Amino acid sequence: MKKVELNLLDNAVDSLNEALSKYQQGNDGDLKAFKFSVLHFSHFFELILKYYVSLSHELLIYKNPFSKKISKENTIGIWDAVQFLKNEGHEFDREFMDDLKWFKELRNNIEHHEFSLDVDLAKKVLGRLMQTFNEFDSILGEVDLKSKVTSELMEQFDILADEYKANVRRAVEQAKEAGGLEEDYYCSGCDQAGTLSLKNGMYICHFCGEESVEVDCCVCGVSFPKDELMVWNDDSEQYVDYICQGCESRIQNM
Ligand SMILES: [Zn+2]
Ligand SMILES: [Zn+2]
Repeated sequence: MKKVELNLLDNAVDSLNEALSKYQQGNDGDLKAFKFSVLHFSHFFELILKYYVSLSHELLIYKNPFSKKISKENTIGIWDAVQFLKNEGHEFDREFMDDLKWFKELRNNIEHHEFSLDVDLAKKVLGRLMQTFNEFDSILGEVDLKSKVTSELMEQFDILADEYKANVRRAVEQAKEAGGLEEDYYCSGCDQAGTLSLKNGMYICHFCGEESVEVDCCVCGVSFPKDELMVWNDDSEQYVDYICQGCESRIQNM
């Protein structure tokens, strides 16, 4: 049965490479290629999710692992796979789920209706897919998919990653306009730096929308988003003290 795992991963990587190759063609002016890029990406997500389920047990990719004729059993779908991974204790944030739903819908539209997208929208679409993939890659961890991308397609991979970076840059600009903070403030929701702005004692991330209240470090007095601080002293419930990471590590090293 080990063969199943191998096929799933190989097929997932093939789909990823196909998706990137079609993306390249789309960028070179063949707009129809974007459509196939989306379809291949969709395939890739489905296969890689199943692959991840199969790491727990190969038979779990079947709807009925107890079947007497296992080779004739249907395999699980994308939402079964997601639910299984959730039940296993993996966390999927709302954005990931939204992205996944969104592109499944797009894929269905492509398959069942006439497909028309302008270039900018198509690029945005694929940028979002990449965003989803980045999220995904960080969840998988042990599967280093980036290293499996064909070397000629690495550039396309980076273009899409740039699309992701471009979204981050946009969020940083928005944060600056709204009274942004120094670049070394990280959002606890998405781990991006410089995407937070402060208004009326609330930090808001312009990338993921995470909100966090402002709290002062009890040592240096600098204010931070609460999620970034550690509780320093909570002997008395009314007076919880928080400490920033800088002060904490300085004290630990004294
Ligand atoms: Zn964020
Ligand atoms: Zn401090």
